[in-house]
Amino acid sequence: VDAVKAKIRDIIDFPKPGIVFKDLTPVLADPGLMKLITQELAAPHVDTDISAVAGMEARGFIFGSLVAQALDVGFIPLRKPGKLPAETHSVSYDLEYGQATLEMHKDIVSPNDNILLVDDLIATGGTALASCQLIEAAGGHVAACAFVIELGFLDGREILANYDVHALIEY
Ligand code: AMP
Repeated sequence: VDAVKAKIRDIIDFPKPGIVFKDLTPVLADPGLMKLITQELAAPHVDTDISAVAGMEARGFIFGSLVAQALDVGFIPLRKPGKLPAETHSVSYDLEYGQATLEMHKDIVSPNDNILLVDDLIATGGTALASCQLIEAAGGHVAACAFVIELGFLDGREILANYDVHALIEY
């Protein structure tokens, strides 16, 4: 995990002044590190009753798909508004840098599905909480939330107090 941390690049004042953006593209370019991250994110959930992995557009798609493959379950995309073609549930929320909406197909989750949520990074936790609400609106259960990076100083874990939260790297 230290090797992953060494490849995360800080971009100052992106996308807005005052934000230190954690750029994971150097990590994405390293297949060994990606394999390691996938194994570490999946490890607590191997041989459990996870029925699917859900991930948020866009970086959650990358890590979420890999974790879904590692756990031998399917992947559920949570998308920005207007992208999903069939009927959706929709949740709007506040971001560290703005406002956002996420949507999920209504029929992709079955009642009692046990879903692992995956994203690259938890900051304020708003994105993850909205994602949990989407899954629950469709009748699913959120088994846990797994992140590569946690910005601990933003207390995202507090608004996710009702959920089991895992992160590989904390700042
Ligand atoms: P939040 O809802 O505040 O927890 O923000 C999490 C979402 O925004 C994740 O999908 C991240 O990819 C993105 N994000 C927020 N802050 C940062 C940051 N400092 N560096 C990189 N991505 C970020």
